[in-house]
Amino acid sequence: MVKTKEFQTESKKLLDLMVNAIYTHKEIFLRELISNASDAIDKRHHLALTDDNVEGAEEYGIFIERDEDKRSITVKDNGIGMTENELVSELGTIAESGSKAFFEKLEKKDLDIIGQFGVGFYSAFMVAREVVVRTRSPYSEKAFEWKSDGKATYTIAETKKEDIGTDITIHLREDDEENEENYSEYLQERIIRDLVKKYSDYIRHPIRMEVEKEEEKKDDKEEAKTYTKVETLNSMVPIWKRPKTEIDKEELADFYKREFHDFEDPMHTVHTSVEGLLTYTALLFIPKKPPFDFYSEKYEKGLKLYSKGVMIEEKNETLVPDHFRFVKGLVDSADLSLNISREMLQHDRQLKRIASHIEKKIKSELAKMQKNDREKYVEFFEAYGAILKYGIYDKFGAEKDKLKDLVMFKTTKSDDYITLAEYLERKPDEQKAIYYATGKDKESILSQPQMDALKEKGYEALLFTEEIDEFMVQILAEYEGVPFKSLKQAESDLVDEERKKDIENKEKDHGKLLKAIKKALADKVEDVRLSGRLQEAPVCLVAGEGLSLEMERILEKLPDKPEGVKAKRILELNPDHELFTALQKVHAKDKKKVADYASLLYNQALLIEGYSIEDPKAFSDLMVRLMVEASKEEAG
Ligand code: ADP
Repeated sequence: MVKTKEFQTESKKLLDLMVNAIYTHKEIFLRELISNASDAIDKRHHLALTDDNVEGAEEYGIFIERDEDKRSITVKDNGIGMTENELVSELGTIAESGSKAFFEKLEKKDLDIIGQFGVGFYSAFMVAREVVVRTRSPYSEKAFEWKSDGKATYTIAETKKEDIGTDITIHLREDDEENEENYSEYLQERIIRDLVKKYSDYIRHPIRMEVEKEEEKKDDKEEAKTYTKVETLNSMVPIWKRPKTEIDKEELADFYKREFHDFEDPMHTVHTSVEGLLTYTALLFIPKKPPFDFYSEKYEKGLKLYSKGVMIEEKNETLVPDHFRFVKGLVDSADLSLNISREMLQHDRQLKRIASHIEKKIKSELAKMQKNDREKYVEFFEAYGAILKYGIYDKFGAEKDKLKDLVMFKTTKSDDYITLAEYLERKPDEQKAIYYATGKDKESILSQPQMDALKEKGYEALLFTEEIDEFMVQILAEYEGVPFKSLKQAESDLVDEERKKDIENKEKDHGKLLKAIKKALADKVEDVRLSGRLQEAPVCLVAGEGLSLEMERILEKLPDKPEGVKAKRILELNPDHELFTALQKVHAKDKKKVADYASLLYNQALLIEGYSIEDPKAFSDLMVRLMVEASKEEAG
């Protein structure tokens, strides 16, 4: 019985693009079919070791058959095959993640990425008028034939096939001279041979094809006799097993893009081989940009795990620590036994040791990049810095020592990122803390009133503009013995002794006024005091010991915000500002009015800090009233 089925909507759209492809590198269809065949073999091999229902093959391989008369090419494998249901779910629909992301790009008509991305099976329709898949799975008694012209439907029918595995036949389209499309060339032995070399040389299983050979001529007059012979076309050496000097950058980049579904070359590549007690090769990549789901729960970190060139796990999460979870790549170790189950593998001591090596390697590579190629490191840091900072904060700081030298900050003095070590190096000797200032961006931080005193002292402060920064610094607490200090809690550091005395005296002199303001703002601030660190600003709001205003703001935004965590607010006044003189006059003249002015001051401080006014209507009414009163007085 032949069943006819519709492709899923997204598949149809993708197929439509393939069928009408204006993409010039149609040749990649072969690479895609071979790579699927190779994956299918890996799957069967793996299942044969772990699932009693699956029998392995004696010898695994991929076979390419050309038929010039029928204008067809067939790629055969003895991999895992597909059941009837799998034919529907795997070939009739577009699967998750990779293909979806690809599809979104494709909708933007970015056709060039077809070549860089594993578009998979459907790419066959770039060159085929019909594709026939004959397949048998070890999980099914029956074999099936899937057929489609790539338009709207496909058919599935039972068929006869002895061996487990899949044969995919491409019936090539007629050549199209008008558009200079020569499909016939894919029938040529030489072309196929070149394509396999170019794209699939490292495939771990032999790719065989019958090729024509010339017999050696006995004498010159005789026509050369030909015979056919099956040859293996690929060298089968995985790219990471080849001597480093023989691999060029482009090959590595192509390998990365294909294996890890990226559109761009990697930002950084590490190829390392270790021999000794522990023997392994690792090929690691840092993507230029975090993958689209990097910051979602769905993102899974991990490296591919191979043993002697055979893949045993698609993603092993033990191999990379959380704080380097952006690293993609693979590890191949002969020390790992193939037969152990995954659970066992998780706890494997060898694996843990490899993981620890890899972590050190990544760290040293990053440190090297930071030192020798700052521009590149900045690019890296802008993409992944938040992950490093989170790594410092995470697990109560268990990893902080590994990461503290990798984080960088812009500062009040520098638009370039600097490390903590660099900060210490250039700070004046008498400065006893690492200062930081928190805000939305550099501009808003630099406009904070507390900046005046910092500038005066010639000190520098790190700019904290990301939410994670403050969490991180709570855990870090100090660097090389020098404590971190929020600029807002650093009053006494920034003001010299003489000035402090001066302020103390002024506080005594104006005790009554301060008390009156404090009383007026009793439900809003913890304290009202004079400050020596304000120069131009009349007033500012700071936090006392404990929670800072910024942390309070972050915590408030949390879905389950902790109860009762509030920063202690302190209103600081600039005793040398005209406004303070005005306040004294008001206080002397009409004590009741002080409350009005206090409220105005408080709201002004809120505005400077980037908060909104608590009761805008009341604030505005008060303003109007005071202005009217002032004008009356003036008119007098
Ligand atoms: P991808 O390989 O990225 O998953 P493809 O469109 O190339 O996407 O293939 C879709 C699915 O079809 C594969 O994941 C696999 O399950 C199945 N498939 C394709 N080719 C073969 C094959 N030769 N043998 C077994 N299964 C295959």
